[in-house]
Amino acid sequence: MSNPYLPDIATIQRVKPETYDTTSFTLKFDDPGVWERFRFRPGQFVEISVFGAGEAPFCISSSAHGREDFDITVRRLGRVTQALHAMGEGAQVGVRGPLGNSFPLDEVAGKHVLFVGGGLGLAPLRPQILEVYRQRDKFQSITVLYGARTPDDLIYRDELEQWQNLEGMRCLLTVDVGGDGWTGNVGVVGSLLSEVKFDVGQAVVFVCGPPIMIRFVVRDLVAMGFGEDDIISTLERHMRCGIGKCNHCIHGDKYICLDGPVFTYRQMKAMMELEP
Ligand SMILES: Cc1cc2nc3c(=O)[nH]c(=O)nc-3n(C[C@H](O)[C@H](O)[C@H](O)COP(=O)(O)OP(=O)(O)OC[C@H]3O[C@@H](n4cnc5c(N)ncnc54)[C@H](O)[C@@H]3O)c2cc1C
Repeated sequence: MSNPYLPDIATIQRVKPETYDTTSFTLKFDDPGVWERFRFRPGQFVEISVFGAGEAPFCISSSAHGREDFDITVRRLGRVTQALHAMGEGAQVGVRGPLGNSFPLDEVAGKHVLFVGGGLGLAPLRPQILEVYRQRDKFQSITVLYGARTPDDLIYRDELEQWQNLEGMRCLLTVDVGGDGWTGNVGVVGSLLSEVKFDVGQAVVFVCGPPIMIRFVVRDLVAMGFGEDDIISTLERHMRCGIGKCNHCIHGDKYICLDGPVFTYRQMKAMMELEP
């Protein structure tokens, strides 16, 4: 990227509604040369410009392997996300990125890998889940615990069904409030932690979700004996430039956009202590 403020143009290839307020968009760069240098790693994000509406950061939610396009999964909230939701296949957006750091992979080889996702928090975890599964021989086990408020809030439903039937992956779902037709677990995602039977001293956990969910899940993980460096999450803050210039996302002594968005619990604790 020669000018970090200049977006590359991508065209929406596919629009896939996930829930009543969340949609996945598959984006492909108009210039194939851009894809060659794009090469993202799980955990990274992009700044998406919707022309006439503004720019906003979104994590990349698809596999970092074997594709020539990528997905973002977007909840409809304000100006940019509403404008994006109004766009269809064939529409163009601007893309800056990939930005930020990424989830560790080689560094956690040999461990049991646990993913705990809440709601839209499964989106940043998805590329890492797919990569860990692709390289599953390097890990002792793979467990995905995913929860949402209601069955209607579960994203990637078709994929979740596949994951529940995959050999080499354990995938458990829960919802806070069940409903007609829901025969699965009911309870917050943290309640599924009782299903974890492996030695947590040899495990790493990736946690993403709403701040309140992260707070309670991390508390439980620490109580279970997970090390502070083995609890890894992504942080979201109001963000503008995405490249450490505008100071919008400073948290403690870190830029979320440059030093993050991926942090260990040890790093997050240190950052919180520095907050005014
Ligand atoms: C690194 C990173 C990755 C992200 N990944 C995703 C993703 O994969 N999918 C997704 O849907 N969203 C993601 N977000 C959040 C997304 O960027 C915001 O929802 C978006 O900027 C809202 O833009 P808007 O113009 O539609 O809403 P605005 O009109 O700007 O805001 C609407 C409301 O949302 C609040 N808000 C906006 N941004 C944030 C934020 N970052 N944190 C908390 N509250 C916020 C505002 O205060 C306001 O109340 C991510 C944010 C960051 C920083």
